[in-house]
Amino acid sequence: MARSAPVPPRSDISALSKYHSAQVEVPVRLNTNESPFPPPQGWRDEVARLVASIDWNRYPDRAARALRGAIAARHGVDMSSVFVANGSNEVLQTLLLSYAGAGRTVAVFEPTYQLHAHLARISGATVVAGRRSSDYTLSSEEIQRVVSEHSPNVTFLCSPNNPTGRVEAWGNIELLTDISSGLVIIDEAYAEFSERSAVELASAPGGHVVVSRTFSKTWSLAGLRLGYVIAPPEIVDMLHAVVLPYHLDSFKQAAGLAALGYVDEMNDRVARIVAERGRITEALSRLDVDTWPSGANFVLFKPRRIGGHATWQRLVDRGVLVRDCSSWSGVEDCLRVTVGNEDENSAFIEALKQALEQSE
Ligand SMILES: *Cc1c(COP(=O)(O)O)cnc(C)c1O
Repeated sequence: MARSAPVPPRSDISALSKYHSAQVEVPVRLNTNESPFPPPQGWRDEVARLVASIDWNRYPDRAARALRGAIAARHGVDMSSVFVANGSNEVLQTLLLSYAGAGRTVAVFEPTYQLHAHLARISGATVVAGRRSSDYTLSSEEIQRVVSEHSPNVTFLCSPNNPTGRVEAWGNIELLTDISSGLVIIDEAYAEFSERSAVELASAPGGHVVVSRTFSKTWSLAGLRLGYVIAPPEIVDMLHAVVLPYHLDSFKQAAGLAALGYVDEMNDRVARIVAERGRITEALSRLDVDTWPSGANFVLFKPRRIGGHATWQRLVDRGVLVRDCSSWSGVEDCLRVTVGNEDENSAFIEALKQALEQSE
């Protein structure tokens, strides 16, 4: 007999809202923190050759040894401290499946990357949210309060933080590491755009700090879906036990390994983006908006006299798409602009000037 009623999903996840970024067809798209630059031509040529040489009838190297070895060398750690997956989102999901889950607690400090709480809930865990101050820094008292009240099994910090752009104070990372007995995940998706990294805390055996990274932003490879975590070896072993077998296909392993041969080109792209971030920040400082210092490839800003969503619409009307954060908790009325190429940023600055001056 066919059922006519819909099959009920798990009651704890049926209320989850879907995570996605609105796509609008406009000429200038600065809403998802992608790199505006394509990857180097040399890499593209290499990838074309790799496609022809892969043993497509064979399963991939399940341990992704060559790729993990190259990532480990880049960070000066042992390969046993590297776990690679399909984007850092899959890395985070695998960490949460292993260390969160039903009956466990995951802490975040909002406003921050919404996917941390989302993936934690999907794992079955309870999410507790600490609050950042009004300038989006995090106080040591708040860290202490959240850890002592909830003893979280997993605590996230995101540095530089999305969507605020703030680099986490080093003292906060050390404090959390000291007082938490659970896993500490530092999401460093934007680390290459800033100076300080917590990788040095992450690889020692017996430790409880892990640092996630991605090829999506700095490496101009959002389309490749490749991310990794530096973690103590016993945590990496756990992740390998939990993730699906052969989760990382042969092509991706080879393409990621090839990308690591283009560090200079990547650094050039990062330098251009950091310079353009400076130009955007400077332009915003002359407009009627509040902004906060960013260590990432985006800048958060808040129009002082016009609502965030109304400003977003005025930008769309002028062919510029930014991220509308105006309804997110803690960043009410804020918009987030991804640093694009020189022309895109000029178009954004000009469109924003006009949008702020437009009469009703
Ligand atoms: C973009 C982003 C990621 C990246 O996810 P991928 O799955 O690697 O593309 C992770 N964390 C944060 C905070 C991000 O903004």
